[in-house]
Amino acid sequence: MSRRKFIKVSALGVGGILLSKFSSAKNEAKKPLPNRSNLIAFSPRVISTWNHGTKANEAAWKILNIGGTALDAVEVGVRVTESDATNRSVGLGGLPDKEGKVTLDACIMNHKSECGAVAFLQDIENPISVARKVMEETPHVMLAGKGAQKFALEQGFKKKDLLTPEAKKAWQKWQESEDQKKPEINSENHDTIGMLAIDSNGHISGACTTSGWAYKLHGRVGDSPIIGAGLFIDNEVGGACATGLGEAVIRIAGSHTVVELMRQGKSPNEACQEAVERIIRKHKDIKGVQVGFIAISKYGEVGSYSVYNGFNFALKDHNTEKLIDAKSVLKW
Ligand code: ASP
Repeated sequence: MSRRKFIKVSALGVGGILLSKFSSAKNEAKKPLPNRSNLIAFSPRVISTWNHGTKANEAAWKILNIGGTALDAVEVGVRVTESDATNRSVGLGGLPDKEGKVTLDACIMNHKSECGAVAFLQDIENPISVARKVMEETPHVMLAGKGAQKFALEQGFKKKDLLTPEAKKAWQKWQESEDQKKPEINSENHDTIGMLAIDSNGHISGACTTSGWAYKLHGRVGDSPIIGAGLFIDNEVGGACATGLGEAVIRIAGSHTVVELMRQGKSPNEACQEAVERIIRKHKDIKGVQVGFIAISKYGEVGSYSVYNGFNFALKDHNTEKLIDAKSVLKW
């Protein structure tokens, strides 16, 4: 490429190059999406739910920063949280169900709309990697329970007791408490990690992984492994993921809803807000029902919204590393 041509292309920016690539694609998204090409388009960027997202983003960034794929970034990123024994809501060290069993849900989705998920998986530390194997090695989208574990072991994953002494203690304490009769959602027992990344090719991928609602009924599966609820990616538009009370997210197909609202022209923030408002409308009693969404558009624009205050997400890109408080409709 001549220097002159190079300068011209550079001035257009990576976003310009990729926008023209996208604009030639025959898709329904191109008409209603507003032009936001003034944004830092297609520069790699990663966002994750809650403050545990900061560490996870660091791992994801190591991949994005050297031109790696968003898919690798989100898998490697959320594995950090899954393997963190001090985290009480994801993977190893996650709080168990009513019977004292740690049961895990996870899913992953890439820019080609390929996806994989595991639900009600036990004794495997990194369910997100099993979900990726489901996506890549099987004709299925989701494996659950014993079948998911059998598949994981066949794929070379090792069994591990995920109930740490600290989590066991907390569960024993809960068994003796009043809470056992009236389980309530709070920020301590609900904290999925959901991660969305866009790489230097403008490809978006997402991952979502959790030990779910602490002290849930044995067998309960939340939104996190359900494509369209806990996570949804459509590379023509963007991606979204959810955290909070999974039952509420599933009822409005939350992450899919956010992406479809972006397709209609809403910004990630506006789309998350409308999804949250829909959840509020669908509940006669919204008291204590916390849900938060994060979203990224194909331009790399990010946003979030939650039912109640207190939700935040971590952002990392070339220029920024910060924790952002989500706006909420209600206050605790
Ligand atoms: N959404 C998850 C579930 O309901 C929990 C969470 O986000 O903390 O299983």
